[in-house]
Amino acid sequence: MSRVVVALGANLGDRGSTLRAAAEAVAALPGVRPVASSHEVESVAVTLDGPDDAKPRYRNAVVIVDTDLEPQAFLDALHGIEDAHGRTRDVRWGDRTLDLDVVAVDDLRIDTATLTVPHPRAAERAFVLAPWLDADPAAVLPGAGPVADLLAALGDDTERVDEPRLLAEPTRASAPERNVTSA
Ligand code: ATP
Ligand code: CA
Ligand code: CA
Repeated sequence: MSRVVVALGANLGDRGSTLRAAAEAVAALPGVRPVASSHEVESVAVTLDGPDDAKPRYRNAVVIVDTDLEPQAFLDALHGIEDAHGRTRDVRWGDRTLDLDVVAVDDLRIDTATLTVPHPRAAERAFVLAPWLDADPAAVLPGAGPVADLLAALGDDTERVDEPRLLAEPTRASAPERNVTSA
């Protein structure tokens, strides 16, 4: 069993509904049990040329799960959820309906052609660190340190969205039929 931190992002479509549906889909994967989730944050789109105010803004959030799946199998399942939400892959860091990244898997280091863990850019992204800290105030990025310290050093340029956490609490009580109202 491993504990996996998943970062969710969207800047096209009904971002809030997509993030909520995606969080539910991750939590409902076979061999996956939800542990915690964050509120949504909003921030400016970052392209290969830097922050771009002309692009639709991003909503981001974090979901933490326990899973029996191997990390690559878990990532493959995330890609299936992205595809179900119309994710296309053309421009690197281009606009997208849904992005699901593996931020951390326990304190493992993984470096294959298709999976690098911890996510190599997590420490420089407030839109990952802020919701992760929200979901887990004691979070530590393996090899880098407490998420609270990393976020304080980086500066938090995200805005908290006034909506409930992605997954209803308490997440320990399994509630597969629970009704999720879209934002
Ligand atoms: P970034 O990785 O900077 O957040 P991105 O999310 O836009 O960029 P994608 O186009 O979604 O990048 O993913 C490109 C590839 O990254 C994926 O096909 C996947 O194999 C690989 N990858 C490597 N490590 C990870 C990880 N930790 N989480 C998700 N994808 C990863
Ligand atoms: Ca990403
Ligand atoms: Ca990705």
